[in-house]
Amino acid sequence: MKRREFIATTALGASALALGGCHRAEDQTKTATSSTNRGKKVTLKLATSWPAHFPIMGTGVDAFAARCLELSGGSLEIKVYAKDILVPALQVFDATSAGQIDAFHSGVYYWKGKNPAFSIFGGMPLGLVSEEMITWMKFGGGYALWRELYGTFNLYPLIGGTTGPQMGGWFKKEINTLADLQGLKMRIPGLGGEIMKKLGVNPVLLPAGEIFTSLERGTIDATEWVGPALDNMMGFAKAAPYYYTGWHEPGSILELTFNKAKWESLSSEHQAIITAASEEMTTNMLQAFRYENAKAFAALPKEVQIKTFPKEVMDAAKLALTEVLKEESAKSGDFKRVLASYEAFVALNKPWDDISTKNFLEIRG
Ligand code: CA
Repeated sequence: MKRREFIATTALGASALALGGCHRAEDQTKTATSSTNRGKKVTLKLATSWPAHFPIMGTGVDAFAARCLELSGGSLEIKVYAKDILVPALQVFDATSAGQIDAFHSGVYYWKGKNPAFSIFGGMPLGLVSEEMITWMKFGGGYALWRELYGTFNLYPLIGGTTGPQMGGWFKKEINTLADLQGLKMRIPGLGGEIMKKLGVNPVLLPAGEIFTSLERGTIDATEWVGPALDNMMGFAKAAPYYYTGWHEPGSILELTFNKAKWESLSSEHQAIITAASEEMTTNMLQAFRYENAKAFAALPKEVQIKTFPKEVMDAAKLALTEVLKEESAKSGDFKRVLASYEAFVALNKPWDDISTKNFLEIRG
């Protein structure tokens, strides 16, 4: 895998199995149309925002397609196209919406320009981790909102994997105080970038293929990417040896999104197979990221220095997040509504998580 072949991301997929009563009505309406297509061979074109067979994310999509073929006894073929083969990496949303292709695999936060609320479905800085995000989606109302808002673009989204916690990024200089961030140029997208901007950083967006060179030449001072498994391949350690622990992407969600009209034309069997295979993909991807990150972390180059941002910086980031959420809510009613659902789940989840997982991890040490 070459550096220039990389791209960042987030998104989420779905399951019918675990979905409760809220999805039952929707499922019942599908049964009538579906039986007419039973047994018919279907081929779908799915474009990704990744290079062919990109580790973990791209290979996850390949496995998903193979699983659909297997579970359907050969009647559901999903042809996976790497970025730029059918459509450019970041035009997969529009191409699927327009029905040029049937589906895509990408990151939700790329589409913030379509609707600011979409960034919340991709994950929240200083917010929920992957398992919590998926729980909010499936049981806390997130999926219903996502499908409603994507529905206006003729799209039907499923969670298509999740990265687990991402690292905070690679810096050329050590960050000891807030003042050290002033004027730094950092490649960091999404809400994390907006928070960094409030802390004095100049966030920049760069095509994946330009990140390493920009860092090496000093055009940028820092970059975030994903985690050790994918970061090591980019060679960032050579240009920026301070590797900071994460805060801005605690549980980024990837998406497996279908053209809605196409989705509704599929048989209930094929819909169930895709849904189940997407669940499997999400579970496998989270486990693969955990395992590969653990291995890559153990094998980080010697020059890498692991650092955690000082409390002063993280306290300022928390304040900045509050401001960003307030500003986005004032600008977009959809953002406000999705945030209210997200925050209701946080309020429900946190006391239990504190007393169970957090408490246990502290005891385990
Ligand atoms: Ca990232």
